[in-house]
Amino acid sequence: MLIEHLLATKGNEVVTVAADTTIAAVVAVLQEHGIGAIVVSDDDGGTVAGIVSERDIVRAVADRGGAALDEPVSALMTTDVVTCQPSARIEDLMAVMTEHRFRHLPVVDDGRLVGIVSIGDVVKVRVSELAEETRTLHEYVASGR
Ligand code: AMP
Repeated sequence: MLIEHLLATKGNEVVTVAADTTIAAVVAVLQEHGIGAIVVSDDDGGTVAGIVSERDIVRAVADRGGAALDEPVSALMTTDVVTCQPSARIEDLMAVMTEHRFRHLPVVDDGRLVGIVSIGDVVKVRVSELAEETRTLHEYVASGR
């Protein structure tokens, strides 16, 4: 399956914050949306300036305590963001996520942010594809061909 097909089902909404947003505010947004990472964007979600995940926040709080919550997200975010294109295949994303050991990939088309894919989205697609393959094989065997 291609990422553009996944986004057609999942939608294009990406939760973003500006780079000067405090970590305390980011935590509230993560909680409100039930997500694990946020794309940082300084043009209201048009382009990607960085990404911050719950792991970055856990690390900062472990290092600096509650004071980390007052820092701007720009202090913690990863700026070297790996992205993918809508034309990429789910299998390609699985390889990228495994190689880099992260669970979120913003989808960018012609420099513009058009979606985000999490490892949960990828697993959901693969489980459904495997169920379909199993069903097809059962039908094939049952038909005696
Ligand atoms: P995650 O597994 O997505 O929670 O992220 C683990 C670490 O990788 C954190 O330091 C994130 O800031 C970073 N990270 C997450 N997604 C990406 C991405 N697409 N490109 C670069 N770094 C990322």
